Amino acid sequence: MTQTNQAMPAANSAVIDVDALIIGAGVSGLYQLYRLLQLGLTARIFEAGGGVGGTWYWNRYPGARFDSESYSYAYSFSQELLEEWDWTEHYSAQPENERYLNFVADKFHLKPHIEFDARIKSAIYDEAANRWDIETITGLRARARFLISAVGILSASHMPNIPGIETFKGQSFHTSRWPHERVNFAGKRVGIIGTGATAVQLIPEIAKEVGHLTVFQRTPNYCAPLRNSKIDAETQQKIKASYPEIFQKCRDTFAAFMQDFDPRRAFDLTKEERHAFYEEIWAQPGFTKWFGCFHDIMTDERANEDYAEFVRNKIRARVKDPVIAEKLVPKDHPFGARRIPLETGYYEVYNQANVRLVDVRESPIERITPTGVKTGNAEYEFDVLIYATGFDAITGELTRMDIRGVGGRTLNAAWADGPRTYLTLQTAGFPNFFIINGAVFCNFTRCAEVVAEWVSTCLDYMRNKDFKRIEADPEAEEAWTTHANSLTEGMLFTKTDSWFMGTNVPGKKRTFLFYAGGAPAFRNKCAEVAAKDYEGFVLS
Ligand code: NAP
Repeated sequence: MTQTNQAMPAANSAVIDVDALIIGAGVSGLYQLYRLLQLGLTARIFEAGGGVGGTWYWNRYPGARFDSESYSYAYSFSQELLEEWDWTEHYSAQPENERYLNFVADKFHLKPHIEFDARIKSAIYDEAANRWDIETITGLRARARFLISAVGILSASHMPNIPGIETFKGQSFHTSRWPHERVNFAGKRVGIIGTGATAVQLIPEIAKEVGHLTVFQRTPNYCAPLRNSKIDAETQQKIKASYPEIFQKCRDTFAAFMQDFDPRRAFDLTKEERHAFYEEIWAQPGFTKWFGCFHDIMTDERANEDYAEFVRNKIRARVKDPVIAEKLVPKDHPFGARRIPLETGYYEVYNQANVRLVDVRESPIERITPTGVKTGNAEYEFDVLIYATGFDAITGELTRMDIRGVGGRTLNAAWADGPRTYLTLQTAGFPNFFIINGAVFCNFTRCAEVVAEWVSTCLDYMRNKDFKRIEADPEAEEAWTTHANSLTEGMLFTKTDSWFMGTNVPGKKRTFLFYAGGAPAFRNKCAEVAAKDYEGFVLS
């Protein structure tokens, strides 16, 4: 490996030759780059977008913001960074989040090592040379010993397969491809398809401005109030002084958030005690209403239903028209089996005279027309049509690229029956290819730091021991995949359709896409494997 951290010359004609090529300049890619440069390796990021930020670059729709506390989502690796950066809100909005990631990239001099507008078309492993050959859609090429995917979990947008989408004559976009210039909704007739966590953030913002808004809902969700607020100077000081406790708390909890499930079982308490507890967590900001509830709501249907009915009544109380309220109340899946959207003023929007809710389960969307949307029983005309239809999560961004390992086998073929990995980090037959996408049910940055550190420590180990190739042992991969699948047995997640299960994308294998053993168990396993000289990996 080359012992320099100088940026390689930008090359359009020449092939960029580096130790490691990282895919994506989001939260995990930036930190991975930082760690590799610290090691003295040469590294380059190919980033599809025009700037850093990943999720926080692409999802620039009004209302986009963190659902976990800004300071629990922040990087923890640099004390100087923690001291220098002031979060202005407890749940900070996209423009600030994008500014933060730019601040990080500038502070640590990362940008000279990033190629922007560089969407990867193919990455082919050259077995004889033990190198990856990478090419972007614009013909930029790189050759690297290591290929590291840091594409995140929600980057491949999912457009629904509705006939006529291309015929719409007004303005139209997916939420994760929101225009960089401000969209003017004033007086416009706007339609939005989808009511997931994205739509739920967006709808209250644009409802303030539109002429008329129509929301097409297929599955109602259990949305809970975010309860965001500004951070005043005194609180800012307190947060900065308590970063060690914040990160320790995240290290201790199941999903690396600041909240953790209550160890009591719901029915250990009387009805009155349970309801007092529900009210208490409901009044808290952020995910406390989910991750702070009784632990058995995620496994025991009766416990879940008790809390779900409490939440349904919270929704009913906010919507004036009881018919609309019942349409907004989820009844076909347990609380928390799908991602709980956090909202600010979402349900009140349906009390506005210029907002209409269309239940597409009653009357499905048949087609998009040049002027709007046609359902089974009506036609709606719009100036702007927004697709808040989600993502081909976790695997989609990678399976859309042409990635080929040993013997030319594609990643698509290797994952035909659902993703198979060892530790979420590698797939057998794809040597020197690390996947640090975040396929662990975990606060994203907390696990991104763990994984990026694990990979950089591994590459350092390989350099010291003169190993050139690392690959998941197929048996270790099989054992890990079986273990990961067994963890989801009995979890309510698996009984419900959602992007967690891959069921939102037609044809995608139905499987729980995250490692569900919890962040502490994942971290311990990664550390144990490293301590045992990368047990389960074949090094040569
Ligand atoms: P999503 O949760 O998958 O929601 C997509 C929505 O589109 C669903 O309501 C879905 O209905 C609907 N839909 C899809 N195809 C449709 C069709 N053909 N006809 C009618 N409706 C259709 O996607 P998302 O809202 O973008 O959220 C994805 C994830 O991003 C979240 O779960 C969350 O993890 C993350 N996110 C995070 C934040 C944050 O941290 N601040 C904010 C936003 C999003 P069905 O439910 O019936 O399929």
